[in-house]
Amino acid sequence: MFDALQRGLTRRTLLNRTGLGLLAMGAAEIIYKPVRTLAQAAPSPSEEPSLPPEQKLGWAVVGLGQFATEQIMPSFGECKRSRLVALVSGDRAKAERYARQYGVNPQNIYNYQNYETIRDNPEVDVVYIVLPNGMHAEYTIRGARAGKHVMCEKPMATSVAECQAMIDAARQAGKKLMIAYRAQYEPYNLAAIDLARGPRKELGKLKAIVADHGRIVKPSEPQDRWRIDKKLAGGGSLPDIGIYSLNAARYITGEEPIEVSAMLYSTPNDPRFVEVEENVNFMLRFPSGVLANCTSSYGYSDTKRIQVFGSEGTLELSPATDYYQHRLFVEKGKVREERNIDEKNQFALEIDHLSESIVQNRKPKTPGEEGLQDIRLIQTIYEAARTGRKIQLEPMQPPRNERSV
Ligand code: NAD
Repeated sequence: MFDALQRGLTRRTLLNRTGLGLLAMGAAEIIYKPVRTLAQAAPSPSEEPSLPPEQKLGWAVVGLGQFATEQIMPSFGECKRSRLVALVSGDRAKAERYARQYGVNPQNIYNYQNYETIRDNPEVDVVYIVLPNGMHAEYTIRGARAGKHVMCEKPMATSVAECQAMIDAARQAGKKLMIAYRAQYEPYNLAAIDLARGPRKELGKLKAIVADHGRIVKPSEPQDRWRIDKKLAGGGSLPDIGIYSLNAARYITGEEPIEVSAMLYSTPNDPRFVEVEENVNFMLRFPSGVLANCTSSYGYSDTKRIQVFGSEGTLELSPATDYYQHRLFVEKGKVREERNIDEKNQFALEIDHLSESIVQNRKPKTPGEEGLQDIRLIQTIYEAARTGRKIQLEPMQPPRNERSV
């Protein structure tokens, strides 16, 4: 992955440095000015030197699927405060292969039955749950009860009750629980937050957000098989990728919605959408008056875009929530310019954020309550779509007021 990142950056950097960015965009009338943004730095400890291995917290990855093996595990190499020390998998041979690749002691390989015995392993401080959504609650709760801090992938779980049980289990165990909302640690998204509601309020008063996330779900791929099974996925495109539109509307405004409406549609007779939905469009109204139009789809090809409209200007992040190669455009008057920001490994940033929160005994920026709020809103969106009614919500503060740059 990192090679691809380097290649992408090199190409874009070259285009920008040679002024070919304009040509690459294929529109001579667009005024193109590469500008280094004043956006705040990514969360510490990215600029700090790496700790010596014995001072890093030890992490176990639970579930060795596509995302864990292609994004998460390679990213430990860039972590400053965290190291991979254990693996949990139902496939011993696969786990041994990865243990060799990452220098994990084979004695630190667990399976789903003996997972609890991780309690007796002082090398493991944190378990990172990268299993299908329907298994997040069980493995988070078992991990917390085994005395470990927990990072859990999005969506947090498949129901509000499961999310609450996870929060309660971590609290009772005196352990941290963080939901892996990587976009909230990613520098381009932090820059967008800063533009939207940082001290300089570059876009003026915020008016609207449009956030779109779509991809084609392909059950021929192993990682998509469980995604069309309601019990394991919890829903269709909405909890899987529409959650990025939803979470972005919340972190861009820094507010919680007070009104929700939604429409849902799945292609009739498409065997992929018997149990889970294909498309959901939803609208959110925030207390400040910002309206968000969000889309979520398993039917259109790769889309990850966030647009923010203010009285003084607009921004567009596209791709907004990819693994790398994000692009940010700001338009004021008739001038549209690209802002180039140092790309950083968002997975390493979020992993180190939890390690740092543990060492400093602080609540992480995206705690269990952040995941719970998205699941609560996802259920409300389904309800609004089912009934065709607008649903009013009690005003509430974001789980973390400091959910900001
Ligand atoms: P995947 O299918 O590739 O991985 C799931 C792993 O769980 C596999 O190793 C599989 O063997 C294992 N597993 C154990 N019991 C299983 C069961 N009963 N059914 C199916 N698999 C079982 O899926 P993935 O794409 O790696 O997704 C895993 C998690 O990571 C999901 O929660 C997903 O939402 C999340 N994810 C997050 C991002 C992100 O950008 N943050 C990206 C992709 C996936």
